[in-house]
Amino acid sequence: MLLNQEFLFTPGPTPIPDRVTRAMNQPMIGHRSQAFSQLLEETSTRLKPVFGSTEPVYLVAGSGTSALETAVTNVVTEGDDVIVIVAGAFGDRFANVCEAYGANVHRLDIEWGSACTPDRLEDFIKQLNTEIKAVFATYCETSTGVLNPIKELGKVTKQLTDALFIVDGVSCIGAVPVDMKSWHIDVLVAGSQKALMLPPGLAFIAINDDVKTVIKNCRTKRFYFDLNSYINSYETQKSTPFTPAVSLINGALEVCKMIEEEGMEQVISRHQLLKRMVREGLKAIELPLLVKDEDASPTVTAVKPENSSANELKKLLQQRYSIILGGGQKKLKGEIFRIGHMGYSTPFDILKVLGAIEMAVSQVEGRDVLGKATGKAEEVWSHEL
Ligand SMILES: *Cc1c(COP(=O)(O)O)cnc(C)c1O
Repeated sequence: MLLNQEFLFTPGPTPIPDRVTRAMNQPMIGHRSQAFSQLLEETSTRLKPVFGSTEPVYLVAGSGTSALETAVTNVVTEGDDVIVIVAGAFGDRFANVCEAYGANVHRLDIEWGSACTPDRLEDFIKQLNTEIKAVFATYCETSTGVLNPIKELGKVTKQLTDALFIVDGVSCIGAVPVDMKSWHIDVLVAGSQKALMLPPGLAFIAINDDVKTVIKNCRTKRFYFDLNSYINSYETQKSTPFTPAVSLINGALEVCKMIEEEGMEQVISRHQLLKRMVREGLKAIELPLLVKDEDASPTVTAVKPENSSANELKKLLQQRYSIILGGGQKKLKGEIFRIGHMGYSTPFDILKVLGAIEMAVSQVEGRDVLGKATGKAEEVWSHEL
């Protein structure tokens, strides 16, 4: 059968728009050229609204984790007390990075599949009763599909401590609202291969202006990820300290143009629609969702089948329908599958993935659900128009 294309629904990497691919295919330019300086300045500046930042966004060649490491090493020093909100595999990774650099990590463990409420953070800070250097949070916990209430968590952090508030926005920045100043976010990081519609390999670091002094005074040993070099290169020459990922930056500029053309507000509401279509569609065929509506992310949805195995459904979807989904990570391995719907994702993509899921569930669970999930999702979309 002609299913000549794989349909990528993993929560990173994500599909790339053709115009972004073409932008990345431009002839190479020297990175110490005027042309590159212009490209960098334009991209870093046009990324500001996407990150809700008043400062240009810094670009580092590396995967999302390099952005996490940059966020840690530039503010945390060995022995510092830090709080890390751990609601899944990526919160856990943030904690591990902090531990690798010798921080005294206080993990606020949240049940996987739930968001961290401001009250939980408040109680945790109060019972700790020590001076905290930084609070680390994950905006969208990709491993569970939870969106944490970053605005409220930032507020609690600043009310009760002098700590920096550092946010991993890797799997949602480019799809959700954010305002660094009014949400009290000091450092916000993202990666290229999630909602930003690019291949893997580019890390984004947005900082508030005040944090520059903290970064300058931070004594932690670092070299490639020393933000001082990136800030200095940018401010003095609109350049980068090391060879930048030129092609990916060409792509990032094209992504900014696409977001501007659609409008950030519309990008955000499109992701809300995608989320509702997926969730209502899956509810209509009684496939249990891991996360409750209020905590659910608009960029990724985790499904926890009760009458069949998550792995079997995932495998069938891949083999028969060329639909590629994400599996469960760590303690959720084999328990769930995850559908990514971020970045270059439209309502028709949701109908495609739901249609394939209906067929797979009908086959594996032996109940006739054909047309039910898609029908419900179409209803949700129609009401939106
Ligand atoms: C994907 C992801 C990362 C980074 O992963 P890399 O594999 O290093 O790109 C970090 N945090 C979150 C929330 C993610 O989804």
